[in-house]
Amino acid sequence: MKKMEQMYEGKAKKVFATDDPGLVLVDYKDDATAFNGLKKGTIAGKGAINNRVTNHLMKLLEKEGVPTHFVEELSDRETLVRRVSIVPLEVIVRNIAAGSLSKRLGLPEGTKLSKTVLEFCYKDDELGDPMVNRYHIAAMGWATEEEMDLICRYSLKVNDVLTAYLRDLNIELIDFKLEFGKTADGTIVLADEISPDTCRFWDSTTHEKLDKDRFRRDLGGVEDAYHEIMKRLMGE
Ligand code: 5GP
Repeated sequence: MKKMEQMYEGKAKKVFATDDPGLVLVDYKDDATAFNGLKKGTIAGKGAINNRVTNHLMKLLEKEGVPTHFVEELSDRETLVRRVSIVPLEVIVRNIAAGSLSKRLGLPEGTKLSKTVLEFCYKDDELGDPMVNRYHIAAMGWATEEEMDLICRYSLKVNDVLTAYLRDLNIELIDFKLEFGKTADGTIVLADEISPDTCRFWDSTTHEKLDKDRFRRDLGGVEDAYHEIMKRLMGE
């Protein structure tokens, strides 16, 4: 497999073509942004941690029956994944109120939700990723009803698998963001990353935040929190 031209550079990752048209290479950066790119910084070692944590969790999910884009970890920061066209949605899964939900509904952070909540946002930086519902998604043709049924089923399954797995590591899964892609033959697979950048992880005992909120809210100890997550998940 040969790494070829760069196809895309995002806020936290670069994507390169390979000599196999069905595969692309993802290269994770240490760059961190928040608030739709308004806040910028670097989190030393983040790229390698997010790469390894994502792959660890994708492998677990694949084993539990959720199809993913993961193919092979190539190095600390680089992973080979299936080429997909991204469904232009962020799927947010919430178990406990925090962040924008707390703000929107006036719920104190940490309030347990009596039922898991799914939200969808249209991926568009210029519009600030507006929240949309299934009527918007169908009307705009971003995904079919059948694809959305599958995306919702996979998202809830990811939540069940990760919640149970993390509970044993004394980590509470508050909420997280998923993205899905479509392969050339139309198969829906879990794509993007699952990391402290995209999830809220709280220590189950102390409720200490072990995720990107430390960067977003200037809480300090950002690198330590990312390392702590990697240590609990992968023992190093
Ligand atoms: P909230 O809507 O409360 O800001 O975020 C809910 C969850 O989704 C959090 O775990 C957050 O990390 C994740 N999330 C939502 N939007 C984004 C985004 O644009 N980028 C990243 N990395 N995570 C997001």
